[in-house]
Order: sequence, then C-alpha cells, then structure tokens
Amino acid sequence: MKAPTIYFDNNATTRMAPEVFEAMVPYLTEHYGNPSSAYHLAQVSREAIQGAREKVAGLLHCDPKEIVFTSCGTEADNMAIWSALHTTGKKHLVTTQVEHSAIHNFGERLERMGFAVTWLPVDRTGQLDLVQLEEAIRPDTALVSAMWANNETGVLFPVDEISALCRRKGVLFHTDAVQVPGKLEIDLTRHPVDFLSIAGHKFHAPKGVGALYVRRGVRVLPYVLGGGQEGGRRGGTENLASIVGMGQAAELALATLIDEQTQVRVWRDKLESGLLAIPGAQVNGHRTSRLPNTTNICFEGLEAEAVLLKLDQQSICVSSGSACTTGSVEPSHVLTAMGLAPEEAKGAVRFSLSHFNTEAEVDRVLSVVPQVVAELRAQMPVAR
Ligand code: PLP
Repeated sequence: MKAPTIYFDNNATTRMAPEVFEAMVPYLTEHYGNPSSAYHLAQVSREAIQGAREKVAGLLHCDPKEIVFTSCGTEADNMAIWSALHTTGKKHLVTTQVEHSAIHNFGERLERMGFAVTWLPVDRTGQLDLVQLEEAIRPDTALVSAMWANNETGVLFPVDEISALCRRKGVLFHTDAVQVPGKLEIDLTRHPVDFLSIAGHKFHAPKGVGALYVRRGVRVLPYVLGGGQEGGRRGGTENLASIVGMGQAAELALATLIDEQTQVRVWRDKLESGLLAIPGAQVNGHRTSRLPNTTNICFEGLEAEAVLLKLDQQSICVSSGSACTTGSVEPSHVLTAMGLAPEEAKGAVRFSLSHFNTEAEVDRVLSVVPQVVAELRAQMPVAR
C-alpha cells in the first residue's frame, strides 16, 4: 500500500484550509454577480470583496484602501516595479541577485527595454550589505525592490532597515513578502514600505489570487489596464471566490501565527538537526535570520533531483530550489549568488513545513532520508 503523502513543500504552495474552501463555495454558486454591475446580486459580490479587503488589511495592519487585488504574487511584483518606474519617470531599479523569478526575469526584461538595473550580491549566508545598497542608489533610482524572505533558503532581509534607508534617500521601496504571511508578523504601521506583494496560495488560500499593498499617497500606474476595477488600479473582473478565500485565509493566518513560530519552528529544527546528522549534510543560508518553517540542505556528492525522485517514491514531497525552476537542470541562481559551486547548488533540497504537518511526519522523513542518501551514495561511489 502507498504511504500517505507527506507534504514538506509549503514554500511552493500550501493546501487550502477547509474554512477557506467553505467561505468560497457560496461565491462559486449562488453569489455570482459581477461586482461592477448595478443590481443587488452584484452588491453582494462587492460587499464580499470589501470584507476580504478588510481581512487582508487586518493581516498586514494597513488601511483596506491600500490593498489592490491581483491574479498572483508575480503580478503584484511586476506591478510594483512597473508602476514605480513609470510614475517617477526614473530609469533605475535596485534589486538583489536572489529575488524570485517574478522580479528577476522582469528586471532582465526591463534591462532589454533600456532601463538600468543594479543587482546587489549577497554573502555566503544569503544576506545583503546595506552599505552597498545605499551606494547603489542614484539620483535616477525609482525603486529598491528587496524580498522580505527568500523562498529557497528562508533567509530574511532586514526590511525595517532597508525601508528606513530608502525613505532617507527619497526612493520608493518594494518588498516581495510572498513567503511571509502566516509565518512572521507583518505590521505595516511599523515598516515604512511603499509596496508589498503577497500571494494567497502561500498561506492556505487558493492559487490565482494575490495582492499588492500600496501605501496611501504612492501613485500607481495600472499594469493590467482595463475596466477600472480596484479603484482604477487594476483592470479585470475580480476573481471573486478566490478573493473571498484569501480574506478568510488572512484571518486564519493571523490566528495561526503563534503556532507557525513555535510549533512549526520546533518541527523544522528537529528535522534539520536530524538531517545534519547525515555525513556531508550542510544547511544553506543564515541559521537564525530565517523563516521558521524552511530548511535548505545539501547532501554532499548527491544531485537533489535524485533525492527528490527517491523521496517521491515514498510519497514525500520536497523541492530542489524554487518550484518555478524545477525541471530545468540549471543550478539555483539564489545558491550560486551565495557562493555555492554549481555542483553544490544542484544538491540542495528544500524542506518547508506548515501547521498542517505533524511531528510524526517529521519522524518518518527522518527515518527515510538517511536511507535514501545512503542508497544513492552507494550507487555513485565516484561522486564520493
Ligand atoms: N515571490 C516569491 C518569493 C515566491 O516564493 C513566489 C512563488 O513561488 C512568487 C513571488 C510568485 O507568486 P505566484 O506563484 O503567486 O505568482
């Protein structure tokens, strides 16, 4: 009999919370009015979107008017950059070498379009040098975009310090916080961030819905231009049921935050120390300035893809680097930016947990992985 699935890939996506599904159902069945229409059926949809906006704002501690719903985290990231460059009329973006492809590939496109991009390096632990960041800001810099938490390693950038620095230098600041909701507190009354991206499917809402926080007073140029929805900031008929789902998930994320930071951290730490007992295992990324649910580990001499395949045969889901690059043989750009050799980077396996996991699952993974590593090493004596 097939073993039950153990899902340790929560940075790729998460399972939908049952409460989220329940909240969505009426908006997939009887409440189907287009929120832009004039009759009562549409009014119900408009009110549901407003309710969700308030819940998402509650999660981020901001004003509901500062929330723009998007189709995903990628769109929110693209929109922040596009908007900042066009509303300021400036041509320069400062970002980092370890951003998600939503920023990375968009930045490369901007370069091809004639914009200038500075790609800041990170050190071996995945951290930025803030002096270098300050020096990279020029008179024609429109925006600094630096992620809050890295999706591959979980490493955190000091968003408070970066936002204060940007404010001092008079440039806008965007942070890709897609990996943060439900794992760490986001209190926008304390962080002077101008734009912040989130994605529902990373915190137990459905896929295909995200949001961009735009601080009050910061100008926006719509990236998706259409019928003037979202207060003229994002065109396109709203994904009503998913927006309602994200609102519900935002409420739950606030309620489970303590669990993530305590229980999930304990499981992650148990998993990590167990895996580190395997000879030749090492953690990639800073050990303390890190998300509570993530560990990224290399097993010396092994290709992560081989480990993944073997674990998949045992119904254990983990990932090698970013989910979006799985399938390509390129080493992770995040790990190579941290100074890992391409062969080392190709060995990195990411385990990312959520409060839907259990300690028994951690124990099972700890009993399977050492066997898998030993088997693979026995098949590849040359690599050792
Ligand atoms: N930014 C980060 C840090 C991510 O981890 C992801 C998803 O993996 C994204 C952006 C893109 O979000 P979405 O999949 O909703 O487009």
